[in-house]
Amino acid sequence: MKNEDWIGTLPRKFNTAILGDTVNTCNIFGNDCAFALASKNGEYGFNLYLGGKVGVQARPLNLFVKPNQVKDVFETVIKLFKSYGFRDNRNKNRLNFLLDAVSLEEFAKGIIEFSKLPLDEAGELLVKEEFTLDDTSTIELKNNKSAIHFGIPSGIFCGKDLEEAALLAQNYDGIIRLTFEQSFYIITDTSNIQDIKTSPLYTKYDSYHNIYFNNQIACAGTNECSFGVIPNKPDAIEMAMYLNKHIPIENGKVRMYWSACPKGCGIHGVADIGFEGAKAKDEEGNSCYGVKIFIGGKAANSILEARQLTKAIPLPKAQEVTKELLSIYKSAKLENETFESFDTRVLANLEIEEIQSRIGL
Ligand code: SF4
Repeated sequence: MKNEDWIGTLPRKFNTAILGDTVNTCNIFGNDCAFALASKNGEYGFNLYLGGKVGVQARPLNLFVKPNQVKDVFETVIKLFKSYGFRDNRNKNRLNFLLDAVSLEEFAKGIIEFSKLPLDEAGELLVKEEFTLDDTSTIELKNNKSAIHFGIPSGIFCGKDLEEAALLAQNYDGIIRLTFEQSFYIITDTSNIQDIKTSPLYTKYDSYHNIYFNNQIACAGTNECSFGVIPNKPDAIEMAMYLNKHIPIENGKVRMYWSACPKGCGIHGVADIGFEGAKAKDEEGNSCYGVKIFIGGKAANSILEARQLTKAIPLPKAQEVTKELLSIYKSAKLENETFESFDTRVLANLEIEEIQSRIGL
């Protein structure tokens, strides 16, 4: 975009996403400004969502943006934020706070007035499908291409392996695509799948291809972040190993996201099962590492919010509780049903106290 003058010196950081897919592959609603695939009168475009940030989902502005209007709408949002966004308190100057102050309706009117675009009301949101990686860990794409998934536990990946992944992609004329769930794909000709799957790098991570590692996020934790309350990454790995041993599940999907403190960089609030690091008390009353558990965050719907399932409980107790929760899912889910869909269909209709009693809390 030319003339970058207008984008400088914003009040605070500003994340933007545009999604032309029916599957929420980029945590679209976690951004300050999000254009989410929609349709109106038989035409594709985007519904506009604003004000997302870590732990807060972006809210719908009831505006439909055609593809050729995206640039102007984006520029207008930026200019409004630059002119009217708060600058006095660093903790309260993301776009979300400006929207709280002026209301979504007024901000939407401002976009129409300043952009001079005849924007329609929002269309039908098309971001509502879910994608489940099957046991081949491969996705067939167009033009004889395939995407091969590498599941990286808690996103812990060393430079040497990154070099190896780059060489692998290069040798097979492929590219690497990172996922927001801290893993990656190599996209290459379908005829290369077997070669890549027998490579040392793929073999090294292949054992992590199961329901508990396929969709996992864990923030930095105490090893790298001064805000961290628990180590986090190793805890997430230990939980996934424990669950895979005690309650293996096939033909399903569960997104388990971990944040080591309430700031929520591991986006536990949009997880199927979210973990927030906290200090807990063990059976002797001593302080120990623990988590608060949340359920029912949604990737496909920015409105539904996660519910808190537990107070801070020690990590070993969290493993037991999560196992019991997943045994409900395993025994009552439909064929290939994801946890997100199961939660909407079954768990969300139960009082939280009933779920707690079913899992021994
Ligand atoms: S959630 Fe907390 S511990 Fe984790 S990266 Fe963010 S600030 Fe650090």
